[in-house]
Amino acid sequence: MSIREKLKEREEARDKAAQGAGGGINAGLPEGVTRYVKLGQELKDGKTFVPLAEPDMWFFYYVHEDGDFATRTQHVRKHTCLHSPHAAPASKEESPDLFDQYVKPNGSVCLSCRAKAKRKLYFMLPVYDPEYKTWRVLDLKEFHAGKLIDDYDKLEKAAKKFNKDYSLVGDAVVIRKTADGKTYSMESGELDEAVLEAARAFIGSPEINYEELANFRDEADIREILEKATDGHVDKSVLLNF
Ligand SMILES: [Zn+2]
Repeated sequence: MSIREKLKEREEARDKAAQGAGGGINAGLPEGVTRYVKLGQELKDGKTFVPLAEPDMWFFYYVHEDGDFATRTQHVRKHTCLHSPHAAPASKEESPDLFDQYVKPNGSVCLSCRAKAKRKLYFMLPVYDPEYKTWRVLDLKEFHAGKLIDDYDKLEKAAKKFNKDYSLVGDAVVIRKTADGKTYSMESGELDEAVLEAARAFIGSPEINYEELANFRDEADIREILEKATDGHVDKSVLLNF
């Protein structure tokens, strides 16, 4: 096998690991089903889930990516910013401080931050999927997370009028792509009590390993991504100063 083929094979292996194909984060799910909910495809007609954490406790992290969706041009291949938390906030109280710590890029811990690659905020909403009887995550860009949090708060506020201790965590919701196709919405759903019981067993489960889900790459990998980035979209001089 030539060096080129070997390199291609290595890249494919890394991609597979990133997607968690075969084992890793997708272990235990039927073939073709991923731990990450396929947003466009699976939410098209709406799907029932059980949220396993309130928004203040959702894992957030940053991603470096740069491209043009309309022309499918990729300038910087998507990868997790190394200046991101490795776990969800430990408490609701800790959440804002943790958030503040990571708002700004940090070139001393992340080569892509140093190269000024575009940096975007993402959230992972952990859910129970009654179809596959296990936990999954909705990996959401800031914009979509914001929309779902708005709906989440509205639903919870309405229910709290009747029961002030009510929480949407552990209850059924339907998440669907909006009619205009631009984002997602959350409305209240229906599930049997036995299903909700099964879902609640996953609340706070250590099985939901965000560090693994976020797939932090090593610096050599990131270096390679930056080398391949379109000129003018990252400052490649940082690759020399090492
Ligand atoms: Zn970074």
